[in-house]
Amino acid sequence: MAVDYLGHYSPDIQAQVAQLRQQGKLGAYLLKRHPQVHQIRSDRALYDYTMAIKNQYLRQSSPIAKVCFDDKITLSHHALGLHTYAARRQGNKLKSKNEIRISSKLKYVPEGFLRMLVVHELAHLREKEHNKAFYKLCQYMEPDYHQLEFELRIYLTLADAGEDPYQG
Ligand SMILES: [Zn+2]
Repeated sequence: MAVDYLGHYSPDIQAQVAQLRQQGKLGAYLLKRHPQVHQIRSDRALYDYTMAIKNQYLRQSSPIAKVCFDDKITLSHHALGLHTYAARRQGNKLKSKNEIRISSKLKYVPEGFLRMLVVHELAHLREKEHNKAFYKLCQYMEPDYHQLEFELRIYLTLADAGEDPYQG
């Protein structure tokens, strides 16, 4: 079943997107905003990329043990990425480690889309819920956060339908 990536936007916006798509202009809209895909292809590069953002904005937050691309994450309305917080007992100490997994579907997209998702998962280091404080933190790290999320959702709509503007 197709995921409705744009379901929580206003009917007005959804109608505009649908119209552009019907006219075959939606891919061009994305290409104009973001002409190029990023070059972050390995888990190592993704880790470095994520840590650079963390060190700039969230230096004090808990460390991250691992960052990787994951083939098994299906991008859906709820989970564009995954932040796991694995707690395990070691002796009588409770050890925890943060891991960030990013869907492999984001290997060949514009940098802004990847950045939006990385920022989202980093914000979960401080805020578990998607509340006001959470989105404030996202916008602190990436002022264009909401616009990028919108464009990422447009991209996913196209990509799922086999109309990925960044392929071929
Ligand atoms: Zn989240």
